[in-house]
Amino acid sequence: GVKLNIFADKPAQLAATPDQIAKHRNLVTQAVKTFGAQHYDHYDFLFALSDTQSGVGLEHHRSSENGVGPDYFTDWDAAVGDRDLLPHEYTHSWDGKFRRGADLWTPDYRTPMQGSLLWVYEGQTQFWGNVLAARSGLMTRDEMMGSLAYDAAMYDTRPGRQWRPVVDTTNDPTMSQRRPKAWTSWQRSEDYYVEGMLVWIEADSIIRTRSKGKRSLDDFARAFFGIRDRDWGEVTYTVADVAKTLNAVEPYDWATFLDDRIYKVHPTGVLQGFTNGGYRLTYTDTQTPYLKAIEKASKGVNLLWSSGLNLDKDGVVTQVMWESAAFDAGLAVGQKLVSVDGLKYDAGVLKDAIKAASGTKAPIQLIVSVNDQVRPVTLKYNGGLR
Ligand SMILES: [Zn+2]
Repeated sequence: GVKLNIFADKPAQLAATPDQIAKHRNLVTQAVKTFGAQHYDHYDFLFALSDTQSGVGLEHHRSSENGVGPDYFTDWDAAVGDRDLLPHEYTHSWDGKFRRGADLWTPDYRTPMQGSLLWVYEGQTQFWGNVLAARSGLMTRDEMMGSLAYDAAMYDTRPGRQWRPVVDTTNDPTMSQRRPKAWTSWQRSEDYYVEGMLVWIEADSIIRTRSKGKRSLDDFARAFFGIRDRDWGEVTYTVADVAKTLNAVEPYDWATFLDDRIYKVHPTGVLQGFTNGGYRLTYTDTQTPYLKAIEKASKGVNLLWSSGLNLDKDGVVTQVMWESAAFDAGLAVGQKLVSVDGLKYDAGVLKDAIKAASGTKAPIQLIVSVNDQVRPVTLKYNGGLR
C-alpha cells in the first residue's frame, strides 16, 4: 500500500479535513491510472509540516522525504505553492527512479553520474506532478492556471534562452549547487525543470492535434513508465528511446523536435504548447490569487515583469531582470532598498510608487544601501504593475 506519514511541529497542525485526506488518496488513484503500473511493494511519503525542518523534496523508488510549511492543512489556500510537492516526488518513483537516464545510471560509486536527460527526469516529472495535482483535486483549475501562468511568464521573459540550450542547464546542479546567482534571467538556472515541462506541454499538444484528440502524453506515460508492474529495478533509456516511444504513440519527427527544443538554442516559441491548446498569456495590473499566495509565503515582492525587481522580506534585491528598468538603473542583487520617493521602504510603498508613476514621465526615486554605502538611484519605469 501507499502510506502518508505526517509529522508536524504542533499537534494542531495535523488537523487535516476528510476532504484534504481524500485529495491525497486521489493522488494515488490517479497516478496508478495514469502510469498503469507500480514500481514498489510499498510506498511511504515521509511528510513534515514544519518551520524548523527543511523544505525538502527528495525522491526514492519506494518513498520520498517531503517538507512544507506548518500550515499546509490549516491554511490550505495559502499553501497552494506546496500542493504540487507530493505529486512531483511521487511521480519520481516512475520517472527518474524506475525509468532512469542511461548516463545517470551507474554500476558503482566510482563512476560519475551524468544528468543530460534531466529534462525528462525533472521536466516530465514537473509535467506529471502538475497533471496529478489537478486530477487529484489537490489544486483547483484556477490554482493550476495561476501556476502555469507564472511559469509561462517566467520563461517567456528569460533572455538566457537566447544563448543557452536547455540541455546545458542540466550541468547547473554541478556548477552552481543552488547557490544564489547575480543574473538568473540571463545566466539561467536549473531550467530543465520548468522549460522541460513546457516542452512536454508542447509535445502533448502536438499528439492531441495530430491524433484529433484520440491520444495524448498519457499514452506515452503508459508505454514508457507502465511496464513491468511491481518491478522496482531500473530500466534505462536514451534520447533515442524517448523519440521511439513518442513515435509509437504518434508518428512525427520527434527526434528533430527534441533536438530543436532541448539540444539547440531555441530563443522563441517557449509558449507554443499553450498556444496550440488555445491558451494565451496576458499581463494585468492585478495579481492572480496564486501569485498573491506565493508572495505571501515568501514574504517578498515579485515585480520582475514591471520594474524588473524581486525583493525579499527586508527589501534586499534577490533578482534583477536582465535589461529591465531596474537593470538600467544599476540595481543589483544584494542591494537593499531604504526608501522609495521619500518614504521608508516596504513592499506596499514600492507598489504604490509604481502605480503613481504609471503613465507619467516621472521617475521613481530610491535610496539604496549596500554594505556601508548609501546612494540615490533613479528608477525610470512608468509601465505600472504587471
Ligand atoms: Zn524532482
